[in-house]
Amino acid sequence: MGSFMLTKMSFRNLFKKPVTRMYPIEAPVYTSRSKGHVVNDIQECILCGICEKRCPTGAIVVDKPAETWTINPFACIQCMFCVRACPKSCLTMEHDYTPPSTSMYTHSDKKPELTEQEMAEKLARDKEKAERIAAAKAAKQAKDEQAESGDE
Ligand code: SF4
Ligand code: SF4
Repeated sequence: MGSFMLTKMSFRNLFKKPVTRMYPIEAPVYTSRSKGHVVNDIQECILCGICEKRCPTGAIVVDKPAETWTINPFACIQCMFCVRACPKSCLTMEHDYTPPSTSMYTHSDKKPELTEQEMAEKLARDKEKAERIAAAKAAKQAKDEQAESGDE
């Protein structure tokens, strides 16, 4: 009986579609919930370092003076803490796997140099921000002084 069942199963499997995929000849299908590797849109990144602080494995290094964002894909456990914590939403979890490699490596992104126009826009934004902060401080000071004179 046992050998009959085994022969039957063997024959059935001979003509059945394989349950495994011929990877890498046949490309894998990634679902929207597949976890692959973390990618940074460096244009949007403000190098705040929150992702570095949140990463439980120390896979991310943010070097503000050098304007670089670096990840060690071999240390990443795809927990997505960094993706959720990023205030600029510039980190994403790509759905394909990290490319196989025969050696350890890190991936580094550097902030691109600003064009003259971008630099002018940034300076204008910074100036506007500084003016807003100064105005808010002056308003607060005036309010405090008014409250103090009211108390007297
Ligand atoms: S948290 Fe986001 S914005 Fe901040 S350094 Fe990381 S990637 Fe850049
Ligand atoms: S997914 Fe998790 S382990 Fe990977 S870099 Fe982000 S925080 Fe670190």
